[in-house]
Amino acid sequence: MQKHYYIKTYGCQMNVHESEKLAGMLKSLNYEETTNMADADVIVFNTCCIRDAAEQKVLGNIGAVKKLKKQNPNLIVAVCGCMAQEDGRKELFKEKYPHVSIVFGTHNLHMFKDYLIKFNATKQKIYDVWESEKEINEDVDMYRTSNNNAWVNIMYGCNNFCTYCIVPYVRGRERSRAMNDIVSEVKSLISEGYKYITLLGQNVNSYGNDFKDGTNFAKLLKTLANLDGDFRIKFMTSHPKDLTDEVINTIATEPKLSKVIHLPVQSGSNRILKLMNRNYTVEHYKTLIKKIKEQVPNYFISTDIIVGFPHETEEDFMATYNLVNEVKYGGVFGFMYSPRTGTIAEKMDEQVPQEIKNERVNRLLALSKQIIKEQNQQLIGKTMECLVESKTDDGYLATLDNGKNVIITSNKNLTLPTFKNVKINSINRNKLVAEFCD
Ligand code: SF4
Repeated sequence: MQKHYYIKTYGCQMNVHESEKLAGMLKSLNYEETTNMADADVIVFNTCCIRDAAEQKVLGNIGAVKKLKKQNPNLIVAVCGCMAQEDGRKELFKEKYPHVSIVFGTHNLHMFKDYLIKFNATKQKIYDVWESEKEINEDVDMYRTSNNNAWVNIMYGCNNFCTYCIVPYVRGRERSRAMNDIVSEVKSLISEGYKYITLLGQNVNSYGNDFKDGTNFAKLLKTLANLDGDFRIKFMTSHPKDLTDEVINTIATEPKLSKVIHLPVQSGSNRILKLMNRNYTVEHYKTLIKKIKEQVPNYFISTDIIVGFPHETEEDFMATYNLVNEVKYGGVFGFMYSPRTGTIAEKMDEQVPQEIKNERVNRLLALSKQIIKEQNQQLIGKTMECLVESKTDDGYLATLDNGKNVIITSNKNLTLPTFKNVKINSINRNKLVAEFCD
């Protein structure tokens, strides 16, 4: 009888892509995907621990499948990802979640297939969380699920130790993938017809630093942008302290590189940036923004902001607010600070009360919403490139590379997906209404 798997993914794009690897390993063992958890023979929780609320949700969801295990004693429940990698979690699952059969961490994700084979053969529970990173494993099956976009890891881990962040503790130090391996993966994705290739790393701007041979992110971008084929390269996430002029110039001049730059500022106050250990100043950040705006055609800049970091005063917050107003971001991902166990910020005194965090984040997001509305209006009359992805009764649906939806009325006959230039004519309920330029 056909066996099924169900993967529940929490957190960032890195995890989304790692779930594609988990799915690939399950497929190689002849499991098929189900969208109904109750029908699954294997349920995998690919967890995130970046925020406390996310962690509590994960634990609640893992606890809830206990009843499925009672109905189906052969059900295999596996837990992996950042939360499984955290100190003490393996023991927690062992003691408090006996219905969980396999626990593994971020450093040994590629072992999942072996664990599953072993568990099916022995029925012995497996708790294997490697304490530190080893060499990058290139030999992992993958089942891609993201339509026209393919994720590609270019590096793993982070060296930055921002004081609020748990990532360096659960994903280890920076390790870059060999450029040849990345290039051959991207080539094969282009030949499979993927239109967007999104390069993933906690800090893509420091790609190659660990090789100490002159390899860097700009060189990688240039190499990929010069491959044959009809595709665009995106990347995330950039760290302002490592974004070089060479990278900005490369983005500006290479037509196959997306002009979307996600540049997390986190705060507009130098005092708070110092407490966060971000290693740049607001002045440096503004210089980068100025260079991007001057050099990159059709740029789209977005950011992450943490509101209510310990010691944040109204004055600090207003510095952030004013920065957002000055930069005019196309997108702001605003988060309320939540302490993570084991980080330096968790131990800081002067935590900001929750009601102040709520009020500040709402103020910031209202400003951002207003800016985005104004920017959408400014797009009217402009010519933009979009990816035309699907047909409608009277035309097509498309997306800009920043994710904005575009509706096009047309009787053209196109082979999809395809990149096309469109002229934006109006806005209808947050969707851009456009016509083909040719
Ligand atoms: S750069 Fe800072 S916020 Fe980003 S993953 Fe590294 S430590 Fe965390």
